[in-house]
Order: sequence, then C-alpha cells, then structure tokens
Amino acid sequence: MALDLLIKNGTVVDGSGMPRYRADIGVRAGRIVEIGRIRSSAEKVIDADALIVAPGFIDGHTHMDAQIAWDPLGSCSCWHGVTSVVMGNCGFALAPCKPEDREWFARCLTAVEDIPTEAMLAGIDWNWESFPEYLANVERLPKGLNYGMYIGHSALRMYAMGRRALEERANEDDLRAMEAAVAEAIRAGALGFSSSRATTHITPDGTPVASRIADWHEIDRLVGAMGELDAGIFQIGPDISGGEAQRLFYERLRRVALESGRPIMFGTLATKQGVDPNPWDYSTRYIDETVALGGRMYGQGTTRSINAVFSLKSYLPFDGLPAWKEIRTLPLAEQKHRLADPEVRRRLVADEAKMKPKSSELQGGGAATTDPRRPDYANLFPMLDVDWDDPSVADLARRQNKHPVEIIIDLCLENDNRVFVQPLVNESPEDVLGILKHARTLATFSDSGAHVCQEMGSSLQTHLLSYWVRKRQQFTLEEAVRMLTFDNASAWELPGRGLVRTGYAADLVVFEEERIRPRLPTVEQDLPGGARRLVQKADGIAATIVNGVVAIENGESTGQYAGQVLKGRLAAS
Ligand SMILES: [Zn+2]
Repeated sequence: MALDLLIKNGTVVDGSGMPRYRADIGVRAGRIVEIGRIRSSAEKVIDADALIVAPGFIDGHTHMDAQIAWDPLGSCSCWHGVTSVVMGNCGFALAPCKPEDREWFARCLTAVEDIPTEAMLAGIDWNWESFPEYLANVERLPKGLNYGMYIGHSALRMYAMGRRALEERANEDDLRAMEAAVAEAIRAGALGFSSSRATTHITPDGTPVASRIADWHEIDRLVGAMGELDAGIFQIGPDISGGEAQRLFYERLRRVALESGRPIMFGTLATKQGVDPNPWDYSTRYIDETVALGGRMYGQGTTRSINAVFSLKSYLPFDGLPAWKEIRTLPLAEQKHRLADPEVRRRLVADEAKMKPKSSELQGGGAATTDPRRPDYANLFPMLDVDWDDPSVADLARRQNKHPVEIIIDLCLENDNRVFVQPLVNESPEDVLGILKHARTLATFSDSGAHVCQEMGSSLQTHLLSYWVRKRQQFTLEEAVRMLTFDNASAWELPGRGLVRTGYAADLVVFEEERIRPRLPTVEQDLPGGARRLVQKADGIAATIVNGVVAIENGESTGQYAGQVLKGRLAAS
C-alpha cells in the first residue's frame, strides 16, 4: 500500500538518546508505519540526504490560549521545530469564563502576558463558557501544532467567585465548585491544573492575580481533586522573589507533592535579581529531596537567558521620559530624523538622569519594559548575533567614550530592527548549563504566545542545538534531541509522541545539524487589530511534519494544519 509521506535517506536521531542511524521513514494516516530501506511509493517524498530526522519538539510552557484563535500556524514556536505545545500555564487561561467577564479576562492577560486586549477581542470567537467547551473549540480550530492545555486557577477562581476572587478566601461552597470544575476538566482532557504565586503576576489594577489570593488549603483541595482521579499535572508559577519567601513557598509546595502524589512542575531559573536570591542549585537540590521523599517533581528550565527586549520599533527603556515621549509617538522615519539631531540627542541623554533608580525588586518582562528603572548598562546588550556573546552597552560606551544612551541611539539609527536584551533571569550561561544538565529539569518554557512585544523565548530549541550542542559542545545532538522530545513527552505523559518509532504519531522535524540556529528577532505589526509583536524565525530546518502532514517546508507554511488536541489519560482515545 502506498505511503502518504516518505522521508528518504535521512539520519534518524530517534529521541531516545540512542546513537543516530541512516534510514527512510514511511508515514501513513498520521503515523510512522515503517523505518528502514523503504521500497513503497508515496504521495509525497522528502529527500533528507545529509539531514537529521528527529521527533518534533515538545514545549510544555506556552501561553498560546488566545493566539490559537487567529494564528493557525502556531508562531513563533512553529519556526523552531516544535510540533506540540502545552498552554494554559501559570493559572492564566480563557476558560472557564462567563460571557460578562470576557473583557476583564482579556485585560488580565494583557496585564500579565502582554497579549493585546484589542487582538483578543477582535481575533477570538468566544463561543465557550466551561473548560470542556473551550477544549471542544480548540479541537475545531485549524491548527498547525498539537495543543495540550491546563485548566487555569486564576480563570477558575474568577469563574467560581466573581470579583471576590481578587480579594477573598474561598468558602466551602467555592471550594466544592472549583474541585468539581477541575475534575470535569481532567475528565474532558485537560493535562492538569495550573496556578501561580509569582510576585510579578498582577491584574490591570496592580493587585495580585486571583490565584495569588488563594491560600494553600485551596491549592491542596484543587490538586487533591486530581489526586482523587489519579490524573493530571500541577504546574505553578513559583515565588522566585528570593530569600525566605521562596524557601517557604518551596516547603509548602513539597507538602502538596507528597500528599497529592501528582506530578508537580515549576519554573527553575537562576536569578541575580531580587533581595537575597537563592542560587540555582538550591532549586535542583530541593527537587531531588522531594523526589527522595516520594514526590514527583520536575523543574521547567529553558536554554538561555529570559530577556526583556527593547527596540526602536517597540519599547525603549526611556519611553516614559518627557523629551523621549515627544518623539516616540512620531512615525518611525520622523523619529530617526530627530534622533540624528545633535540638539535633540543632548536633551534625550540629559533626560535619562531623571529615571527611577534600579531597586532590589524583581521585575518581570512586563514591568521591565513598561515601567523600567534606569538601566544597568552592563546588563543591557545590543543583539548583534544569536550566540550569547555580545558586548554590553556599558562595554561599547567605554570603548567609544560615549554616553550609553548615545550608543543605543547610534545602534537604532544604524539598523532600526536592532533589538536590545536585558536579561531578567538566567543571566549567566553557566547557571543555565547547570540547570539544563540536571536530570529532573526539562528544556521547555518558551512562554510562546505571551509577552508578545516584551520577551522572545520561542527559540529555545534552536538555541539548544546551535549554542549548547554545536558551539559549546556540552550535549551530543542525541542528548539534546532527547531533552526536547522524549523527556518532555514523558513528563507530560503524552502517549505515542516524542520518539521516532513505528506506531508513533508522525510528528517530525528535518534539519541540518551544522546550520540549525535561531535568526535575530524582529518587531512586526501582524496581530489582529494591527498590534505589534516580536517575531523570531530560524535557519536550517528543511521541514516540520505534524501528524504526517508537512506543516512547514524550508521556512514557509504549506497552509496545511493537521494539529490535534493532546488529551490527558482519562480522555485520550
Ligand atoms: Zn507562564
């Protein structure tokens, strides 16, 4: 019988960490049906001579909940070999949601995740109220990736308690309603329940998001509802404000892990920000100790620094200052004209002295871009390349004997697509390496779909392969592919994905080992309603295949969307 797709002469890196081998791969009805020297004909043939064929990458920490409504491709993750994502992280979700609360939900997502409210109101057909209805809606939408999702605590709490969710403890009736909704979501196919206690997660009014109002008893009850079903993952945005607060958070979270028995995941990042930051290995030791006591716990790591991103076309750190405000709303060409004027430049440089000094408070991508402090120029880098070795603005200012602000203006005038990055966490590559090398951390956490004009984490997979594998030689290609595929498929319990095996879903990525790497990010105005966002693509990927269908070929969408909903154990078919 003819095949739907035949990938010929590729070098298979199968996702298990086993050494590579040469083989053809045959695909029929969305699945891998044959691996070897294939003689059958096929409707479509990809010549993968000199190319690597690996399982499609899996990213477990995204916020694509809104974007999926208007972007069937699944950018920017889709440009980096990703074929499956998990959304609804950190308690932020669009379901459950009452019709009268839609705008408020949209505004909360804008405040925390920088997803423009106009884009959400213009781009989403809000046809759901409950979580199962949202899941059914995602099932119907055309999508180029596979999507798993959590039921989010902040959404759930608002749904169950209305505005009381932002101020009050849950009473027994509230708790019962929320437990029932969690159980309903898990039965419908949610991969788990997500929450957040991160101090950077605030509402449009600057108050804590609903999940942060919950006491730990509420967390016990809602994770316990998954424990009753013996299904579902608990993901939580951790308190990483440092010192004692973080230690208390960890201790209490351990009790949830031990009592519920459910797998628990949280962001495991290194930071030099905040008061008394704990070292990164404090987190990994804590995970090991919890597992030794009988808990199931994973750290969500990424492969590089998480940065606030600045550019002439989006935010600059100085936008709020009077002299800057005057020019920053002008058309781009006019801005550049003014920036070149020596008199204007003098005023712009002088204005910088008025900025609020940097405090010890930990700023997330949101506040760091929209309410910035006077930059630490030694921790602000023009992104000249993607290799994580750019000189800082302070270095350039010293070398050229100029004010750092002038350096930034010069670089913007030289190339108006230039972006500047200010690492918020994971400032040091060696810390990131330590986290990545730990056996219980996952390479995930792109935050794709969120912070659309403030951060750009979607390239974590191509960065791992170009920087850590090729440039730094810290992992073999086989190890790195396993981290992005089988490890994540295992942690999120996604059956039949994450390996090149007969019978497995044909989610595959075909790439050049020597050339795969992220491109520089750019600012584009392509959201519904014309809002801007950061876009980052990659080089060296020949094809991305989702459920047997070629979704992207040589960096271009084929317009074919074969993505599916990834359902948890109780609903998986
Ligand atoms: Zn998140």
